[in-house]
This record gives sequence, structure tokens and C-alpha cells, in this order.
Amino acid sequence: MDIFEKITALAKRRGFVYPGSEIYGGLAGTWDYGPLGVELKRNLKEEFWKFSVKSRDNIVGIDAAIIMNPKVWEASGHLASFSDPLVECKKCHHRFRADQLEDASKCPDCGGEFTEPKQFNLMVETYLGVVEGEKTKTYLRGEITQGVHVNFKNIISSTRVKLPFGVAQVGKAFRNEITPGGFTFRSREFEQMEIQFYVKPDEEESMKWFEYWKEERKKWYLSLGMREENLQFKKHDQLAHYARAAYDIEYNAGGEWKEMEGIHHRGDWDVKQHEAYSKQDMTYFDEETKERYLPWTIETSGGVDRAALFFLMDAYREEKVGEDERVVLKLHPKLAPYKAAVFPLLANKPQLVEYARKIYGDLKNEWMVAWDERGNIGKRYRAQDEAGTPFCITVDFDSLEKDDVTIRDRDLMTQERVKVTDIHKFIAEKMK
Ligand code: ATP
Repeated sequence: MDIFEKITALAKRRGFVYPGSEIYGGLAGTWDYGPLGVELKRNLKEEFWKFSVKSRDNIVGIDAAIIMNPKVWEASGHLASFSDPLVECKKCHHRFRADQLEDASKCPDCGGEFTEPKQFNLMVETYLGVVEGEKTKTYLRGEITQGVHVNFKNIISSTRVKLPFGVAQVGKAFRNEITPGGFTFRSREFEQMEIQFYVKPDEEESMKWFEYWKEERKKWYLSLGMREENLQFKKHDQLAHYARAAYDIEYNAGGEWKEMEGIHHRGDWDVKQHEAYSKQDMTYFDEETKERYLPWTIETSGGVDRAALFFLMDAYREEKVGEDERVVLKLHPKLAPYKAAVFPLLANKPQLVEYARKIYGDLKNEWMVAWDERGNIGKRYRAQDEAGTPFCITVDFDSLEKDDVTIRDRDLMTQERVKVTDIHKFIAEKMK
């Protein structure tokens, strides 16, 4: 089994991710996050928000609508660029205009086989209005980016931001991917987390910001425990006509480097396009220099689902423990769905259960905590290892006498006695 298959199986078994609409035979490219998956994803998004908005003075947040005026997509180029017949490489999924390929028999990037040329439209269409025949065709957003750019002026006039500043957003995007696959890697419905960072139109300064964000975003993945050897930057050799620089942060997914996030220097392309199509002034007034200009944008655009998938892969270990094998997810405590699990040593001893319930209830006020009283302790540890729970807290008969518990560490598999009054501090310390 390769790592994608292992993660797909574990995700279903433990309730991280299920195939979408499974009882009806599924729907290609859609996935449902289960009880553990939803926690992992929420933790990721919360960490992204802390990193981008909460911890900085120069970034604000936004939550724009998924359905936008269709003109937005004309302006952004999403409609026009999808009107030519394209082929897609079945291996690396890069798309090419069929008529512009020198050798149409194989992909120039990886040598893979092509799909038949098709009129691809990656935008997912939808219709608004109640009267048949009078409905307006519109689209589910293909990227979350445009919801920020169209609000550029609103943000400036309603807040006190000054260039350079950024706008962060997290939300759903939809694409009619031709070849969804790789578990959640290429889905038709997915979530993105982005920063649009607006800077002065200045070559040198903007490149400094570009380098800054490139490094910051890599550091973010590292700070949440991703292993450095599994990350690399990949420079885009072929840039979009408006782009000044572009890199991907790639993850080593079982020996294959895959895009996790893009860092793009987009010049003034987006705001300029919206100015042209909306006929609204999109310029920024610089109070220092008394000039008006269109800002340039540095964009960091990551996929929440791809990050979740790669964090799972990165955390996945099969380890020998004596004669046994265990599967463990060594997720950073900040990302782990449950921060701790509480066990009464024996389920049929009401005193133990009652004492453990109290601890469970107290911890639940702050964190997601699991409860388990089935089977032997070893089995409970294994189940929590697969869920990525960093700490298992067991209440035994000594606890009743001494007001302490055993805390077992997921990664080290060590056990230590901790006073009940110190449990909270113990976990909080490891969450840093
Ligand atoms: P790819 O080349 O893999 O199709 P892209 O270059 O089209 O990706 P962007 O448009 O730059 O991707 O989107 C930014 C991020 O959004 C990607 O780095 C990825 O993490 C995420 N993303 C894009 N498409 C999908 C998808 N179909 N499923 C899941 N995540 C996606």
C-alpha cells in the first residue's frame, strides 16, 4: 500500500475523511470530513488565522461571498482562459492549449499521457433566481482571491490600514477538475487559506515582501511540526504574463513532490482588471507622497485540505513496540483533534468512572477531549495513537487516594504521575 492508500484507509477507519455521498456510490472529487477530520481542519484554520490576522497589525480578515457577480470572473480571466480546447496531463495535471503543443503525444513537463482535447471550463456553474427561464447564470468561486480584490476600496475606507497591508481569508472554492484524485489532493470542492498582501508598486520593495512571505509561509508549516526534509520551494519557470515571480511550497508525498501552496507576485493585475471591468477607481492614495497608484499584490495561497492531508502523511508512522506494531499519528498538539483522552482504569468501578468523569468535564471546558472506557488500556492507547491524541490520562485506584493520574505520552510512550490540579498546566505547556 502506498502512503495515499494508507492515509485514505486510516482516515475512513478513524473518522477523519469519508468519500462524499458514499451511500449513493459517491460523487467524484468530493469528501466529507468526519468527527476527527473536522477538528483537524478547524485547528489548521485557527492556526492560520492566528499566524496571519491575530498576531499582526498589518493584516485584516475578510469572509466574502462564494457566489459573485459573473463579471468578476470575466475580469479575472477565469472565463476567457477556459474557452480554448485544452488537454490535461494525466500524471502532473498541467493543462495546455492543444493547438500550442509542439508534440501533442506527451506532456512537456513530465512526459505523461494527455486526456483528449476538451472544452474545459473549470468554473462550476450555478443559477440564481426562482422563475425558470429568468435565471441568471453565475458561478461558485474558482478561487477565494477575487473576493478580496473586489473589496480593496471597501477595506481601505472602513479600516485604518495603510500600504503595505494584507487581507487574509479562508473559505471554500470549487473547480470542475477534470481528473480529481490523490485522495483529497485534487477535489472539486475544497478550502483555501490566503493572504493578499498589497504593497507599493516598487520593484525592490515588492520583491523583499515576496521573499518575506515565501519564508514566513514555510516557517508556518515547520512550526506546526512538518518535517523540513519533506518541504521544498519550486520556482515557476513559466510565469503567467502578469506575474513577476512565483514559487510553490511542495510536499514530498511518498516520494513525489506535490504543490501545497503557491506564493505569487501578481503585480497590479487583479486590481487593474477590476478597475477596467467595473469602471470603478481602484487606486490607493498615498498620503505621504500625495500620489495615486494601483497597488501590487503578493499572494500566498494554500489549500486547507492539502495541508490537512500532508500533515496527516507527515505525522503517520508505523512503529514496532515489542512484538507488536502500532500506527501512530504524531500530529503537533495544536493540530491534534483531541488534546487528551481520559480513561477510568476499569469501567465497572463507579468510583473510578465518577472521578475520571470529573477530570474529563473540566478539561472539556477548554479542549476537545476523548473519553474511552472500553477494553484494556493497551487497546485504548492504540486507538488514541491512530487518532493522534498526544496524551492519555488514566484514573486508577491510587488516584482516589493521592489525587493524581497517569499521563501517557503518545510519542515517547512514557508514563508519568501528575497531580490532578496540574493536568491543565501540563497540557497547556505542551500546546505551546
Ligand atoms: P494545481 O496545479 O495542483 O491544480 P493550482 O496551481 O491550480 O493547483 P492555485 O490556483 O494556485 O492551484 O490554488 C492555490 C492552492 O489551492 C493550491 O496550492 C492548493 O493547495 C489548493 N488547491 C487548488 N486546487 C485544488 C483542488 N482541486 N483540490 C484541493 N486543493 C486545491
